[in-house]
Amino acid sequence: MRDSTPERMARAVVDGCADCDICRYLMADTPCALFPELYRLCDREAERDGSITAGDLKKLVELCNFCALCPCPNVRADIMRAKHAFVTRDGFAPNIRILEDVERMGKICGVSPRLANTLLQGAHTGVALKRLAGIHRERKIPLLPKENFPAWARGKGLHVRQEGKGRKVALFAGCTGQFLFPEVPKAAVKVLERNGIEVYLPEQRCCGMPSLLEGDQDLTFAFASFNMEHLEAAVDAGYDVVCSCPTCGYMLKSVLSDGALYSAEYRDAVKGGNSSAGTDRSAGEPRISLRRRGNPVLERLYKDDGYFVSLDPLKRIKISRHTYDLGEYLLNLHRTGNLNERLGSVSLRVAYYPPCHLREQKIGEPYADLLGLVPGIAMERIDGAFHCCGISGIMGFKHDFHDVSVAMGSRLMEEIRTIQPERLLTDCLSCRLQFHQLLPYEVSHPIEILSEAYKNCEQGAHPRGDVTEAC
Ligand code: SF4
Ligand code: SF4
Repeated sequence: MRDSTPERMARAVVDGCADCDICRYLMADTPCALFPELYRLCDREAERDGSITAGDLKKLVELCNFCALCPCPNVRADIMRAKHAFVTRDGFAPNIRILEDVERMGKICGVSPRLANTLLQGAHTGVALKRLAGIHRERKIPLLPKENFPAWARGKGLHVRQEGKGRKVALFAGCTGQFLFPEVPKAAVKVLERNGIEVYLPEQRCCGMPSLLEGDQDLTFAFASFNMEHLEAAVDAGYDVVCSCPTCGYMLKSVLSDGALYSAEYRDAVKGGNSSAGTDRSAGEPRISLRRRGNPVLERLYKDDGYFVSLDPLKRIKISRHTYDLGEYLLNLHRTGNLNERLGSVSLRVAYYPPCHLREQKIGEPYADLLGLVPGIAMERIDGAFHCCGISGIMGFKHDFHDVSVAMGSRLMEEIRTIQPERLLTDCLSCRLQFHQLLPYEVSHPIEILSEAYKNCEQGAHPRGDVTEAC
């Protein structure tokens, strides 16, 4: 399939899913925009009302935001490959180059956040800049912070590795956290330090999800290669990689390692009994019979066909196995009796939305459990199984996708409005951007609540002045 034309690649997805037909029903009541369109095109063609054109196929694959609600990971990967093939052959709109590199934009704007805010929020300059970047005119651009997270972390010396022997975390903070909402990775550092954990901020680039969604495989691979080199060095120095953003976690744990367990290199490493990738995260791995080696049929069936197939599979597995979602990491501490539970009261009625890329990590909803440890919190959990906020990385900002993005998120927004929370919580900062766009509620990452609870414990009172029970 990789040597095929983009149209053939997209058509193969359409034909496979038309034959299967499961997602006609399974995805009907979800925010996915791709499957309704796929079946509409198939039905139109079957009724001889117009065959599926090259233009239809290109538009179709652009509807996928990799939300992972659908059941077949290989189908999602094939859609991304078809997107990439279209982009490689037909090129990008120039403004996509500006938008897809969130990190570069963050760094440029971070040189003078005041000036950037004046220009971006200005009535005329804001509209002109949005037009230049291909952003929909109604998209709200968040205010840039005075100091971004990397600058704050450098000031604390977090960019230097320590030689301590205790628990050590290499924090992967994500572009949105680093450059738009630095209060989130700051809260992560504070909570980890409250638990006696040494925090290090390794050199890192974007996790690659925005460029992957745009079909820019070259940029995505450049990011992945850079991150693999620096994260592997941290792992070798005894650090666990911890992501405060679920999308980064999903990329590093799942998408990066997808298919790598079927690689010849991994099988050879297992056979030789010296897999550098081996750790305790082996539950659920496919059992790979070494007798498959040399059997051409099984070799064809069981091969590394993940998106990152051309990158070293052993490194991909190693990084995946040493990477944790921040909530998952803290909940592990709690379950092993190692979490500092001196949490002060935070008196709030909150709604918690577990984002798509958390669900895809198959770790449950660790923050729902952790927030249960905070006195004073009244939490209503929103079922994330069939919801998506619709922001889709940078896709929701794009002029052409804005309306689809809003429509995709409409059911979720409706549900949150019925709850009317004092505070809306989600661990995904892209969801936060969409919530800021569409809802009137204050939005926080659950780690900010935990940080607040530790602070309130220290002060012996919660924000409304009552003495806490837990402290
Ligand atoms: S994504 Fe998988 S389950 Fe859904 S229609 Fe396609 S092949 Fe079937
Ligand atoms: S990843 Fe999400 S948007 Fe893409 S096809 Fe699957 S359900 Fe639809």
